[in-house]
Amino acid sequence: MRDTWPLLEKIPFPAVRRGRLDTLQVNLGYRCNQSCVHCHVNAGPGRTEAMDGDTIDLVLALIERKRIATLDVTGGAPELNPHFRRLVHAARERGVKVMDRCNLTILEVDGQEDLAEFLAAEQVEIVASMPCYLESNVDRQRGQGVFDSSIRALRRLNRLGYGREGSGLVLNLVYNPQGPSLPPPQQVLEADYKRILSDTHGVVFNSLFTLANMPIQRFGAVLIAKGEFDRYLGVLKSAHRDDNLDTVMCRNLVSVDWRGFVYDCDFNQMLDLPMRQAGANLHIRDLLDADIAGRAVRVAGHCFGCTAGQGSSCGGSLQAAE
Ligand code: SF4
Ligand code: SF4
Repeated sequence: MRDTWPLLEKIPFPAVRRGRLDTLQVNLGYRCNQSCVHCHVNAGPGRTEAMDGDTIDLVLALIERKRIATLDVTGGAPELNPHFRRLVHAARERGVKVMDRCNLTILEVDGQEDLAEFLAAEQVEIVASMPCYLESNVDRQRGQGVFDSSIRALRRLNRLGYGREGSGLVLNLVYNPQGPSLPPPQQVLEADYKRILSDTHGVVFNSLFTLANMPIQRFGAVLIAKGEFDRYLGVLKSAHRDDNLDTVMCRNLVSVDWRGFVYDCDFNQMLDLPMRQAGANLHIRDLLDADIAGRAVRVAGHCFGCTAGQGSSCGGSLQAAE
């Protein structure tokens, strides 16, 4: 879905060049046990796209060759890829930090009964979407019963040590606003989440990442349909901070799709803007012998979503609150 691309590509954005590659964000496929209304890849139980074993091997080869520090796996539900555990285990054996973008409800799916224990044994960092601490808001966005299932999963992870000081098992939650506004300051919202989830549900976690909504995909299409695209872009542009340009995630990250093609970031993957060389789309195998430091990033109007206000990345805001 590229409805907003014709508008975004006309909006100038400051040049960004790549630094050292230290993170691979890998989409393992679109199969998911949920089918959320806002899902940016239209994931669901019926999707069959999945990264194959040969491409997984290329990911591992690139990790070794480039001494990648962090592997960030996403989907769909990445855990449903049949090679998920092999990839995670091999990356951990190589000393790589592994982050699993986990939807929490996957822990209750048939065949995944031991997933929580596997993640804990491999010391995988869990990053879980939790768009609100209220049941009604979560169920409206992610499906009936998702909130309760998520709380059960969080309690189970807590029992294994996740989210608890000193355990070394990191559990982070992700929030993004429901509508066309910037997220509130990360530290303030994190304090609210911690208090309410602990008092009401006995759940603890490490950090809350707040992300701005990108004016792309289904959210972008809704902005256009409601006549709010220009106003939201105005909000992002007027909150732009040049100093966020130094830390946008595309400086050090490559996003890989399920077929192995590479992008400057996950948002560019959603906009179908692959990294290109000599007129061809770059594949992960092309990176094995390439040095991409210094390459220009494919920027456009959507990039203001990364540099507005506190800034936004897969690891939450780029700046501490003033
Ligand atoms: S859990 Fe995530 S990947 Fe699955 S349908 Fe929902 S938003 Fe999409
Ligand atoms: S949207 Fe992607 S390319 Fe643009 S600034 Fe953000 S991370 Fe970089």
